[in-house]
Amino acid sequence: MSEILANNPALKSWIEVPNNSDFPIQNIPFGVFKTDSLTPRVGSRIGNYVIDLKSLYVLGYLSNLPFTIDDFDTPFLNSMMKKGKLATRDLRNRLSKLFSTDYNDLKNNTHHVDQIIVPIESAQLLLPIQIGDYTDFYSSREHATNVGTMFRDPNNALLPNWLWIPVGYHGRASSVIISGEPIYRPKGQIKPSPEEDPVYAPCQRLDFELETAFITYEGKPLGDSISTDEAEDYIFGMTLFNDWSARDIQTWEYIPLGPFLAKNFASSMSPWIVTLDALQPYKVDGPTQDPKVLSYLAFNEKKSYDIHLQVLIQPENGEENLVCQSNFKYMYWNMSQQLAHHTVNGCNVRCGDLMGSGTISGPTPDSYGSMLELAWKGTKPLKLSDGSERKFILDNDTVIMRGYSEKNGIRIGFGEVSSKVLPAK
Ligand code: MN
Repeated sequence: MSEILANNPALKSWIEVPNNSDFPIQNIPFGVFKTDSLTPRVGSRIGNYVIDLKSLYVLGYLSNLPFTIDDFDTPFLNSMMKKGKLATRDLRNRLSKLFSTDYNDLKNNTHHVDQIIVPIESAQLLLPIQIGDYTDFYSSREHATNVGTMFRDPNNALLPNWLWIPVGYHGRASSVIISGEPIYRPKGQIKPSPEEDPVYAPCQRLDFELETAFITYEGKPLGDSISTDEAEDYIFGMTLFNDWSARDIQTWEYIPLGPFLAKNFASSMSPWIVTLDALQPYKVDGPTQDPKVLSYLAFNEKKSYDIHLQVLIQPENGEENLVCQSNFKYMYWNMSQQLAHHTVNGCNVRCGDLMGSGTISGPTPDSYGSMLELAWKGTKPLKLSDGSERKFILDNDTVIMRGYSEKNGIRIGFGEVSSKVLPAK
């Protein structure tokens, strides 16, 4: 495969990049946007500007790459992603070159620049993927241990399969929404106490789950498996992911088949897909896996990523309150193991499938990735700066998640996923 030239830390862009921006020229994420005058199309981002890939293509800057106008003049990234990892890597390399200070052909053509770059304030970012299937894992040991401690036995918090299998379930793709889109508090069956019959009511224990998600390229045919060594070739990139959960609905419904209506009412994703290529400099070792995993889950080289993660709660008309700081590197099972496990039985993964990491909790109480854990089942409410308390998420609260990797002065960020909770309909 060709070299990743776009990650070169020496590169500078002729587009202004503010200090601490998530989007230096080394990022080059992909998304979909529209404006008052432009139809939905594929874009990238440097600093506070969106780059219009359709216009770049039309003006001839993307020649000699395996793309057509249809790959960019579309409301989804799937068509572009169908060209595979080598193609999107070369595209990212090309964008990096066009916008670097080493290359002035585009910069000096102000007529073209005006057609190609759009201030972020003028762009509306859209759900960038036509999501096929959505799978959610349960891969944070700290999260699984906390949940097992609260609901079962602190001495046997992890179920016997957990250290052997990257546990997951099939979620629902239709309710995956983009940052900025509000959700309605879900309604359903809730059992107020063990002695009482269930009631139909709005969820009282609405929770976020701090997750990331990865998006796949076209996988292999039904019957074939993807190995841990191959897995990263099938992963396009990652987003921040808030996997909304209704804890009271979940408690009553989940036996024996697992999550259903407690999970499928909404999951929110951030608009920019940060490529796995861009994250290569941030690879780290993951937790030691003991017992030794079965052969199909064994892997070579580093497969975990150092990504700082934050959750903030903003009450209506109030300020942001930082309630959690975690890191993707805490995940016990890495993405390559998740994908190898998902396909070990021959299950076929397709272009645009979305795989949630599972709640990402760290080792300390301020790094827990859900209200369930942060407020410990409602027994330790969080105090917000306005004096109010939270056991779970209230109506009109906005939940914001941010994330970035940083090393040697280069910061590759995800932006944010932000969603407001509206009262039940
Ligand atoms: Mn989840």
